[in-house]
Amino acid sequence: MSKDFLLYNNLTQSKEKFIPLDEKSIRMYVCGPTVYDDPHIGNARPLVIFDLLFRALRFLYGNKKVNYVRNITDVDDKIIESSQKKKISISDLTKKILKNFHEDCDYLGCLKPTHEPKATEHIKEMIEMTKILLDKKFAYEKNSNIYFDVSKYSNYGQLSKKNISELEAGARVEKSKNKKNQSDFVLWKPSKDNEPAWESPWGKGRPGWHLECSCMSKKYLGKEFDIHGGGIDLIFPHHENEIAQSVCANGTKYFAKYWVHNGFITMNSEKMAKSVGNIITIKNLRNSINGQIVRLALMSAHYKQPLDWNDKLINESKNTLDKWYEEYLNQKNNEDIDEKILLPLLNDLNTPAYIASLHVLYEKSKNGNNEDKKRFNQACNFIGLLTETKSKWDNFKKKKINLDETEITTMISKRNKARNNKDFKLADKIRDELYQKGILIEDKDDKTTWKYK
Ligand SMILES: [Zn+2]
Repeated sequence: MSKDFLLYNNLTQSKEKFIPLDEKSIRMYVCGPTVYDDPHIGNARPLVIFDLLFRALRFLYGNKKVNYVRNITDVDDKIIESSQKKKISISDLTKKILKNFHEDCDYLGCLKPTHEPKATEHIKEMIEMTKILLDKKFAYEKNSNIYFDVSKYSNYGQLSKKNISELEAGARVEKSKNKKNQSDFVLWKPSKDNEPAWESPWGKGRPGWHLECSCMSKKYLGKEFDIHGGGIDLIFPHHENEIAQSVCANGTKYFAKYWVHNGFITMNSEKMAKSVGNIITIKNLRNSINGQIVRLALMSAHYKQPLDWNDKLINESKNTLDKWYEEYLNQKNNEDIDEKILLPLLNDLNTPAYIASLHVLYEKSKNGNNEDKKRFNQACNFIGLLTETKSKWDNFKKKKINLDETEITTMISKRNKARNNKDFKLADKIRDELYQKGILIEDKDDKTTWKYK
């Protein structure tokens, strides 16, 4: 690799040159979904951002050398609550949401991670790590609950940059009489009668949420690995607790070397929340917007910045892609892409700058030769755009139109007749009607052509 890859590391709070622990095996772990409800647009952002990081690492180090693990949380308080509310079994619920999640990933044009481990298939590893933490006196038992004792780990708070008293005041720390310190967190807890339960040395129970990521990253990536990612809301307590568990159980200096977090999504400048009722699920988007548009919209702001989701953003992304699809080439070839084109991405995944350079490449392609067109397509493909065929792109627009082509041409000839009769009012009315139905017409050199909006 000849170019430096710069990445903002939340642990050191600075942009650093990415230096892998082992150039032959690049390892990245990203916290995946808790499969309790249909993923929403806020969940789509890390999917696309870390997919982009995965693509950049594959380009720099080789496709086979990058190991990307994204877990599935399929045991959790939220899942139990949701299955009771929806009156379906936990296994039916998690299967259904997981299937939906995978369809969302395909829709967003994301590559499959190398491993996608499920929490419920790693209970043995979680019991094992809990035992180690108890043996090493980093954890204690109280009424069949096992807690991690944060006072035993002097670096606790290193990622969130908070001290223990600040953390204890935090609203997200679950209060309990069983705890020695309120910022201690659960490694294992007893299950109630109607909850999933596994045999353990401390009775029938289930793991605390944080433990699975420490165990699954260890299993698939080793005790120390390069990049840990997730949404900014996961820094505390989830990621802080993952570090504490892993470092103390494994006796290592590090857990992950680089910590990368994406910013929030707001909805028309408002916070997305169930109580506000402004949550858009990806599943709902699938019927009305092409996934390529959503993908481009999600990359339009730098990943660390907040992103506002609104109609203007969608329309701009749609219009851009419509234009870009005019230069579509039916060939997939990312391998020999010019590294210079990728420079903005190698600078902490600067997608706005990359998209700006795509606009320049588009202009060159439009006015240039086949090589220019190829370069433009390669650059789009690299970030997962123009990956659908042009006919699929056009068909998606057609799908929403309730007119067949005969009806369209009949309306156009009626309009032409009206224009010949100088009935411009009627002609305009027909044009507007077609526009409303998603058809754009153009008059040029005495000829009228039409296309899907
Ligand atoms: Zn996690």
